[in-house]
Amino acid sequence: MTSAPLPPGSTIGILGGGQLGRMLAMAAAQLGYRCHIYAPEAEGVAADVAAESTSAPYEDASKLAEFAARCDVVTYEFENVPVEPLSSLGKVPLRAPVKALEIAQDRLAEKRFVEGLGGTPAPFAPVDDEAGFTAALDAIGTPGILKTRRDGYDGKGQWRIMSPRDAEDLTLSGNALIYEGFVNFAAEFSVILVRGLDGEIRFWDSAQNDHSSGILSRSTVPAGADVAAQVPAARELAGKVAEALGYVGVLTLEFFATADGPVFNEMAPRVHNSGHWTIEGARTSQFENHIRAICGLPLGLTDTIVPAVRMDNLIGDQANDWLSLLQDPANHLHLYGKGEINPGRKMGHVTRLLTDGHG
Ligand code: AMP
Repeated sequence: MTSAPLPPGSTIGILGGGQLGRMLAMAAAQLGYRCHIYAPEAEGVAADVAAESTSAPYEDASKLAEFAARCDVVTYEFENVPVEPLSSLGKVPLRAPVKALEIAQDRLAEKRFVEGLGGTPAPFAPVDDEAGFTAALDAIGTPGILKTRRDGYDGKGQWRIMSPRDAEDLTLSGNALIYEGFVNFAAEFSVILVRGLDGEIRFWDSAQNDHSSGILSRSTVPAGADVAAQVPAARELAGKVAEALGYVGVLTLEFFATADGPVFNEMAPRVHNSGHWTIEGARTSQFENHIRAICGLPLGLTDTIVPAVRMDNLIGDQANDWLSLLQDPANHLHLYGKGEINPGRKMGHVTRLLTDGHG
C-alpha cells in the first residue's frame, strides 16, 4: 500500500451512490480529484456530481475489478456494502479498512468489539430464535429494543418491547437479531474523528443529536452540559477504535449521555449525517478531511468557527419548503437532488451558523 500523497487528477472510487457520496465527490473535486461512483442504482445523486459512474450490483466481481482498475484509491459511503466481493478490488487501497465494514455491519460484532476496548454498550444479547428471545428477556428485562443485527438504519428493523406482553405479540422473522436494554439517556451525541494515513487523529466538536421516529432530525453544536462532560471519555474510546482498526478516514461513534457516563450505541465507518454542520461550521468539513485522509494528504483543522451551529435534516416533504428556507439569507440549504419525495427519506439539510451561542 502506497503512503505517498495521491496527486491531483487521481481518481477516487466511491462505493455507494447516496448523498454522502455526493458530498464526498464535491469535496474531492475541490481538491482536484476525480470521483468514480460504484452503486447498484441506475441513477444516483452521487453519480450526478462525479466524473464517472458504474451501475452494477455490489456482488459483481468483474465489474468491481474493472472499477478498481480505473481508481487510485477506493472508499465507501455506505456501510452495508457486502464485504466478500471486495477482494475483487485487488491491489487498489480500500480506505477505510475492510475490517471496519465487517464490524460495523453487525450490531453484535460491533458491541463486542467496542466492549473489548473498554466501551460500555447497552446490555445486549443475541437473539436467533424464540428460545433465545426468552433468554434475552429473562437476562435483560423490559423495556428494551429488538433490532436486526444487519441492514438496519434510520430506526428500521427495530421493535420496542415495552412490556413482556409486547414480546408475546411479536413473531420473529428468522433474521439474526439482537435484544438491547432500553437506555435512559439525557441526550444523544456523536464523536466524529478523522485519522490520517500517518495515524494523526483530529476530532470535530461533538454534536448533540435529536431523533424523530429513529431518524436524525437535528444536530446542534455545542452540545449541552450533559454531553460536554462525557465527550472526553467518548473520544478516548473512539480513538482506541480507530487505532485498533488501523483506520484511515472519517469514523463516527454514536453515544447516549447517561447518569453513568457515555453508553456506546453504534459506529459508522464513514462520514455521518450528524457531521453535515462541518461544511459551513468547521474549518475543514468531514467530507474534505475524509478525502484528505484517504489520499494521504495532511489533515485540515477541525475546530468550529462560530459560537454555535445547528443542522436540520429535511425529511420527506419538508424539502418542499426549499424556497421559504432560502427566504432567510442565513440558511445554508443543501438539497441532494433526489427525485422522489418519500416519507422518511432524507432529501436535504439546512445549516445555520449562530453567533449568539444558542437558538
Ligand atoms: P439505532 O439505529 O440503533 O441508532 O437506533 C435509532 C435510535 O433509536 C437511536 O438514535 C435512539 O434514539 C433510539 N435507540 C436505539 N437503541 C436504543 C436503546 N438501547 N435505548 C434507548 N433508545 C435507543
